[in-house]
Amino acid sequence: MAQRARFCMACGAPLAAVREEGQVRRRCRRCGWTFYDNPVPAVLGIAERGQRVLLARRAAPPHRGTWDLPGGFLEAGETPERALVRELREELGVRATAGRFLGFFTETYGPGGMPILAAVYRVRLAGEPRAMSDVSEVRWFPRRRLPLGEIAFPAMRRALAAYGRGALRLP
Ligand SMILES: [Zn+2]
Repeated sequence: MAQRARFCMACGAPLAAVREEGQVRRRCRRCGWTFYDNPVPAVLGIAERGQRVLLARRAAPPHRGTWDLPGGFLEAGETPERALVRELREELGVRATAGRFLGFFTETYGPGGMPILAAVYRVRLAGEPRAMSDVSEVRWFPRRRLPLGEIAFPAMRRALAAYGRGALRLP
């Protein structure tokens, strides 16, 4: 971990590895600032229509061209539900309502392996989704025939495999 942070965000000096509370962290020798590498919260939506579920093809790195659940990262001050409504309006051009919370999973994101904590909700969509920001295509997949080989994020692939079997167990 923590290869992503080499310099202090407060003063710009190089960071050094220190062991603390069983974790390796990176700390500035000059001013003491510590890179904790805390997970970034994200939110994802499962929209169903009959026995089908909506996936969105990623239009941007990382993993451009693979299928993904719609959603994204929280902005400062947002609740997960509000972030989900905003992200689905941006990505799918529809008004969404966050439904039941299904669970969390942890994942890493991007070349540096940024840790993320993803919250998954059922969502209801008011209207027909279409590919917009960061999405090149949207498609309703039969729940039992999800394109698992084209889902790049390992924890999401495991979660969707379980969902396809009718048992959503989020790792
Ligand atoms: Zn510093």
